[in-house]
Amino acid sequence: MHKWLLLSVSLSVICYQTYAQDKKATYFKDITLIDGSGNAAQPHVNLLINADTIVSVISGNHIPPNAKVIDMSGKTVMPLLISGHEHLGLLKGNTSTADNYTRENVIRQLKRYLHYGVGTVLSLGTDQPLVFALRDSSGKGLIPGATILTAGYGFGVKGGSPPPAFGQHTLRPETPEQAISDVDKLAILQPDFIKIWVDDGGGSMPKVAQPVYEAIIKEAHEKGLKVAAHVYFLEDARQLVNAGIDLLAHSIRDKEVDAALITAMKEKGVFYIPTLALDEYGFIYAGQPEWINDPFFIRSLEPGVWDMITSDVYKKEQQEDKNRGKKMRAFMTAVVNLRKLDSAGVKIAMGTDAGAFPVRAQGFSEHLELQLMVEAGLSPLKVISCATLNGATLLGIEKHTGTLVAGKKADFMILDGDPSQDINNTRHIVEVWKNGKKAE
Ligand SMILES: [Zn+2]
Repeated sequence: MHKWLLLSVSLSVICYQTYAQDKKATYFKDITLIDGSGNAAQPHVNLLINADTIVSVISGNHIPPNAKVIDMSGKTVMPLLISGHEHLGLLKGNTSTADNYTRENVIRQLKRYLHYGVGTVLSLGTDQPLVFALRDSSGKGLIPGATILTAGYGFGVKGGSPPPAFGQHTLRPETPEQAISDVDKLAILQPDFIKIWVDDGGGSMPKVAQPVYEAIIKEAHEKGLKVAAHVYFLEDARQLVNAGIDLLAHSIRDKEVDAALITAMKEKGVFYIPTLALDEYGFIYAGQPEWINDPFFIRSLEPGVWDMITSDVYKKEQQEDKNRGKKMRAFMTAVVNLRKLDSAGVKIAMGTDAGAFPVRAQGFSEHLELQLMVEAGLSPLKVISCATLNGATLLGIEKHTGTLVAGKKADFMILDGDPSQDINNTRHIVEVWKNGKKAE
């Protein structure tokens, strides 16, 4: 008998002994399993969970007595997605503003994310005070939907990014001293990340001064907090990486990345989130995107948005957008940069910036992002591991979620079709399970 077979049998015996009497065990029979680590899909295995935890992946037929058996023949199981760049509570209908930020609206959006197989979202810097209470409850499983992590109030600059519509709580320090004091005040609320916008819109707005963001990063690290930056330009990315940034939360879109930046990002372990869907939304509605009539897309939109983006007025506006060519080039540069950074071994995670504007639909955008990452040249299994294991590692939650292995939370989706064969099979969601419970 081969060693691995022996191991698998003995593991099954242990499961059998431990869970034979336990009525909370559920056995998902005959699935294809993608565990999120980047390993190949395993066909014809069984997944045993007990309460909220994965017990084992069993090959062969060793069903513990008393386990509830769910026959899932032909279905694929993969971890829930983890997104490192989202926004909560701002969208409602065709508007995006802090005025929409209510408990009901945030929870409605968390449910939508989970319905689309997104299990954890990092809300990046546009939240209201309410988020900290919701985040704490969410972490304890006391509210429905995706788990919230939050950067709380982001750092920007007076007269520049982020737009005032995102609320009055944005921190806009003018000196390094003020920046340190703002980080200290925010740290009391225990945000899961710190967010800085570093972008002058190509010279059209002020930008956070380098000594100010250096002070933010240094003080955040003193407090044990990681820092994410909104970026667009290569030179800003370079300075931010030198200053110790932990995450570039958008693609570099003005120039191709060079060897010096790649080396620095690898040495410092900087994560990169390409948000390709956001860039594609910037020009795609001038034409007819292939998904425009897909119910999976339409259901993710706020009321009124589909009518807006398919209207002649909107289409004409998009076609006549004087920045259209620039936006398309930026997207192509982003695609090349993702391919370069990934093949050099820089750590890539998934995020979309959904929820910041009505055209950036929450739920659908994450699946479009996976497709665009595959089209950029990453393998489907690699893209899935970016959106699961890497996301969990980025957010420091990899000990309990992000891959489907024994001991981690039973956080997964059941799909019709295998996304390692065709990434768009992530859109064929049959069921979503979080903390061992089937989501409504
Ligand atoms: Zn954002």
